[in-house]
Amino acid sequence: TVAPQRARIYKSGVVAAAPGKVDVLLVGGGGREHALAWKLTQSPLCDTLFCAPGNPGISREQSVTSLALDVENQEEVVRWCKDQDIGLVLVGPEAPLVSGLIDALKAGGIRAFGPSAAAAQLEGSKKFLKDLCRDFDIPTGSYEAFTEPEAAKEYIRARGAPIVVKADGLAAGKGVVVAQSVDEALAAVDDMLVNRKFGEAGNEIVVEEFLDGEEASFFALVDGETCIALASAQDHKAVGEGDTGPNTGGMGAYSPAPVVTSSVESQVMDEIVQRTASAMVKKGVPFTGVLFAGLMIKDGRARLLEHNVRFGDPECQCLMMRLQSDLLEVLLAAAEGKLAGTHLQWSPETALTVVMAARGYPGSYTKGTAIRNLDNVSTAKVFHAGTSSNDAGEVVATGGRVLGVTATSADVEEAQKKAYQAVDAIDWPEGFCRRDIGWRAVARTKQ
Ligand code: AMP
Repeated sequence: TVAPQRARIYKSGVVAAAPGKVDVLLVGGGGREHALAWKLTQSPLCDTLFCAPGNPGISREQSVTSLALDVENQEEVVRWCKDQDIGLVLVGPEAPLVSGLIDALKAGGIRAFGPSAAAAQLEGSKKFLKDLCRDFDIPTGSYEAFTEPEAAKEYIRARGAPIVVKADGLAAGKGVVVAQSVDEALAAVDDMLVNRKFGEAGNEIVVEEFLDGEEASFFALVDGETCIALASAQDHKAVGEGDTGPNTGGMGAYSPAPVVTSSVESQVMDEIVQRTASAMVKKGVPFTGVLFAGLMIKDGRARLLEHNVRFGDPECQCLMMRLQSDLLEVLLAAAEGKLAGTHLQWSPETALTVVMAARGYPGSYTKGTAIRNLDNVSTAKVFHAGTSSNDAGEVVATGGRVLGVTATSADVEEAQKKAYQAVDAIDWPEGFCRRDIGWRAVARTKQ
């Protein structure tokens, strides 16, 4: 832990935070941000944590103030941070990163942790990522990028199915079609390039090789050339048990993911994370932030599906429950370009998050239903995602994914049991969850 005297160098202002401490602004208001807020406020370096927009769960954490700041108005955010003498800004979601919030903050002299808009292209443009992989020998599937539908269709007919069609830009996780037949792939091309289903995000498409294997995620902190491993995780995107039904933002996750063995982790750090960081430096767009590599693992080797430039949601909830080091200390160091040599302590236990969602999600669902008994949960930590408070002071559901119930244990089955005990203690008849979160890891323990 940083001594208070050293911490003082982080703060050049004259008022606000107590000596040796900083005020922090966290941008976002989902389950990921609740987990980050929970962890940041445990730091002896954290004075007040401001969260924009935050949520009722975040507001219940100690020393947190939720505020209505228009984060799309970058000028306003910069002005507010200056007025408040904010010591560090951390941004949860990808959209403000891709639109350059970190650039605006840094230009305004505010210390901020996260990628520039140029570096956020790793997530913001599928073509940018695939070209980088090709040019710098980062393991991934073969691909071609297209703006003309006929050329894309010719490529698809020549390659056959299964094959994957992706809109180049951000499409809220919906711009990816894993086509099982050539016809399905051709229809995806028309949807994107002709019918403009994803607007500008689909001006260009990437058609890529279907990769087979087991999916997992790996997270790292990156500051230019310096890469520090965080941890692995596995999530459950499909809404239904047994990974069936439509995809969602994520119905649960756990960390670590046993499929990411120490040898897979070394390969991922060397061939994917470090190569990406070095490539970005060579291209003149150094990356600073959380690099979240989406992996397909087969026969003990990982290939890259995608990079995201921020923590995953709900994977972040699992990671924060396992991280034993001071998150704020390490983010301050990274934001100062002093990440090298940092060593993070992790609990070897498994953390497992069960997402409780509003009935109907990912389709239409009712908003405003009351959630009760949250204070009676004892076996897990409940992170709020889509909640707000009503006039009666009750917590009500306002989003699709509403709560992230997170438990830890040395044994994955025990972590699962504790999470479901907590789920069952919560009184929310209009909510539902998958009952099989962690099934892959549990099945492995029985092999
Ligand atoms: P992405 O947003 O690029 O991660 O894609 C969303 C999901 O589509 C991934 O989590 C995978 O399940 C699947 N996917 C994406 N690309 C491929 C690929 N090349 N091969 C197989 N599955 C893929």
